[in-house]
Amino acid sequence: TTLIRSLSRTKVPFQFGRMCYSSVPTTKLFIDGKFIESKTSEWLDIHNPATNEVIGRVPKATQEEMLAAVDSCSRAFHSWSDTSILARQQIFLRYQLLIKDNIRELAKLITQEQGKTLADAEGDVFRGLQVVEHTCSITSLMLGETLPSITKDMDTYTYRLPLGVCAGITPFNFPAMIPLWMFPVAMVCGNTYLLKPSERVPGCAMLLAKMLQDSGAPDGTLNIIHGQHAAVNFICDHPAIRAISFVGSNRAGEYIYERGSINGKRVQSNMGAKNHGVVMPDANKENTLNQLVGAAFGAAGQRCMALSTAILVGEAQSWLPDLVQRAKALRVNAGDQPGADVGPLISPEARTRVESLIQSGVDEGASLLLDGRKVQVKGYEKGNFVGPTILGNVTPQMKCYTEEIFGPVLVVLQADSLDEAIDLVNKNPYGNGTAIFTTNGATARKYTHEVDVGQVGVNVPIPVPLPMFSFTGSRASFRGDTNFYGKQGFQFYTQIKTVTSQWKAEDATLKSPAVTMPT
Ligand code: NAD
Repeated sequence: TTLIRSLSRTKVPFQFGRMCYSSVPTTKLFIDGKFIESKTSEWLDIHNPATNEVIGRVPKATQEEMLAAVDSCSRAFHSWSDTSILARQQIFLRYQLLIKDNIRELAKLITQEQGKTLADAEGDVFRGLQVVEHTCSITSLMLGETLPSITKDMDTYTYRLPLGVCAGITPFNFPAMIPLWMFPVAMVCGNTYLLKPSERVPGCAMLLAKMLQDSGAPDGTLNIIHGQHAAVNFICDHPAIRAISFVGSNRAGEYIYERGSINGKRVQSNMGAKNHGVVMPDANKENTLNQLVGAAFGAAGQRCMALSTAILVGEAQSWLPDLVQRAKALRVNAGDQPGADVGPLISPEARTRVESLIQSGVDEGASLLLDGRKVQVKGYEKGNFVGPTILGNVTPQMKCYTEEIFGPVLVVLQADSLDEAIDLVNKNPYGNGTAIFTTNGATARKYTHEVDVGQVGVNVPIPVPLPMFSFTGSRASFRGDTNFYGKQGFQFYTQIKTVTSQWKAEDATLKSPAVTMPT
């Protein structure tokens, strides 16, 4: 494999992180600055979701390999945390440039492993890149506080300091953005990092690791292991790991939150969602319907912030046929094909699950206004495709409403008033994101104040905050106290040391022991 030796604006080879020693390339581990072949006997296949061809294999790292990775993080911590903050900043300044110059290569890899369209994959990289760019403000973000003269000759000040070894566990749906929410923020603060990418899409993380190394990150500051449950348990249990960031399903996230917390670690856990778009009859119809369709079916609905549920209020219920027409016009195709709007789902199991949730809606009395289950994609007959699907007359008791579908399925409910819509949203356990579509400021204000959801869009369908803010999903969509990226991300990966110091002039020296509390 060609290495990037200079920090110049070089293109990174597309297949980096894999070594081909049989007909199927294998994903390496990244331990102590080296991309190494695992000695494991357990491997998982990686598939192209558009064809279901096996395009690679990923190891389940052995216990020895995982220990070597965490030991490497521990050894590197001392010198890395002691490296000047300006030197760390420089590495991330170079890193953002390398990512920017290799967006296309990263995106191709994402499309190949994850299935999303190339344009959407570039967006995946871009949103992660923005987090890396924000880490370059570390010199402001790491500032402590001072208060001089808290009493005579005495000052108090705080340092914001790294924790030690931190770890991240990531999902399949954003192979670039979500790892980039984690290790750059942790590392620029002076932590070292152990990453376990999704075993279904590991290639992008490997390429990102290579670019970080080429930006000057010392050996051991980032280590990558692969695997499933054993790797996750290892991270939850290893005493050297001080904090865990998790993004993925509720099943895994709640488990990791509990197991990590019991072991005394900080855990932040971003999980599943059921995001509602509330459409008021005064909304700009054309704009709203296009936004709704884009946010429901983009990335085949495999976004935690997908608007998977619409609530049409009053007269807006008559817009349903137009909504269906727009969804019908989307082109389902392999992500690397020109003009593709909706790519495949990640796996045949995901496809079966989504199709059975559609059927459950039909069985429970919803109206199937658009059925994507029989979609045929020429040349990609073996892919995991489901076309845009719309279920109308959905009620809150139906399984298609209570479960996160994570596919290109929009469920549509009706409400007579804004209050009724707010009540519906607030009764749903998830609190990741929501949007209201209206031209009335008072309606928008009432909604944003009364809705109990962590991220609200007003005429913005997917209100994912930029990295100067934080990703603030709430209720069942999040466990932890401190959110990802932005100020909160920097808080998560740092601890505060508070120093109180007294420098007395000689003539003020104590004449006897001070045995009472100072007042
Ligand atoms: P997932 O939970 O299956 O996998 C995420 C990670 O957890 C992977 O690295 C996987 O190896 C590990 N894992 C899986 N099952 C596990 C288990 N039982 N015990 C321990 N570890 C386990 O999630 P996914 O299918 O890759 O991603 C889709 C989910 O992620 C959706 O629910 C989506 O809403 C959610 N998500 C949330 C956000 C957010 O910010 N809230 C962002 C993206 C995705």
